[in-house]
Amino acid sequence: MFKFFLKFNVFVLNLVTIFSFIINNSVYAVTTKGKGKGILGEEKEFNIAYLPTTKKYILRDTVRNIETRSDNFKTIEEQLEDIEFDAKLRWDPNYSEIIKDSVEKSIVNSATPYFEDSIAVDAHTNMAIVYDYYKNMFGRDSYDNKGSEIIQYVHYGKQCKEGLFNGMAFRFGDGDGKDIKPRASLLAVVGHEFTHAVIFCTAYLSNEGMPGALHESLCDCMGALISKKWVIGDDNELIRSLFDPTINGHPDHMSKYIENGNTHVNCGIHNKAIFLLSEGGNHYGVTVKGIGREKTAKIIYHAITKYLKENSTFHDMREPAISSAKDLNFTEEEIKSIEDAYTAVGIY
Ligand SMILES: [Zn+2]
Repeated sequence: MFKFFLKFNVFVLNLVTIFSFIINNSVYAVTTKGKGKGILGEEKEFNIAYLPTTKKYILRDTVRNIETRSDNFKTIEEQLEDIEFDAKLRWDPNYSEIIKDSVEKSIVNSATPYFEDSIAVDAHTNMAIVYDYYKNMFGRDSYDNKGSEIIQYVHYGKQCKEGLFNGMAFRFGDGDGKDIKPRASLLAVVGHEFTHAVIFCTAYLSNEGMPGALHESLCDCMGALISKKWVIGDDNELIRSLFDPTINGHPDHMSKYIENGNTHVNCGIHNKAIFLLSEGGNHYGVTVKGIGREKTAKIIYHAITKYLKENSTFHDMREPAISSAKDLNFTEEEIKSIEDAYTAVGIY
């Protein structure tokens, strides 16, 4: 019992040490400006920090609390092995030193303020744009609105075309090195994943069925609004089109909803409604007058943070969208646009 207590104490102590290391990292790191090129070759400037302890510059934005790390192409299985290994190590008296060392090594670093890792540069700058969008548009500080550290990993998996948020950190695959771009280099994808994290801390929408399709759609819509393009992907790889989901063979009306279908496919119906709400258009004989991107974004955010719940469906989004517009003092004409947009895709 005593032995266990002792071990437990060491464990807690280790956690405290790790925590203070992270705090120290932010307090004693010197904020400065870094430079580097994104994968398209464009020169970018961004916030970095200098760690006097290691004499290295690191991809840490102390203003926005964003840290960009490298996953070193590890797959989920390899990470699980790491966690297992890590769990065994916890009882090692040198555990905190070992962990400190591995965290320190995984932060993307450079001997000079110039960073050569173009994917990491894209991730660092894109996450800053997403952070600023949420801060300036909605006053939200980080995904949890508590200013929590945004930890993101690049070089995730092997030939991986996924981006994800696991409740603690963001992970972005590098694509296939040809047509499929690194996920972190696509601003809409970073915006999409960040919105998953916002929803995780607010509406907590399910990932399955129609609530899952609504969840994916809201992430797509925010990603599109942040990147100012109504597509997720690029010319080489169109992941989803919000202005015309049928380009990818996805449904654009409730009459085409696929029962038990993929949430990343069925989301097309709600994506189309939001596209129409923002930009206007005629769809299945219903004319919608667009209200613009900013107001569209405000309705989505308000609905996510105030009205939506775990099992909200497309149908449960129509009224919250209207209620959000009323809360935000939108005009009668703008509220009619919301009704028309949902009617156009058959969501009542
Ligand atoms: Zn998603």
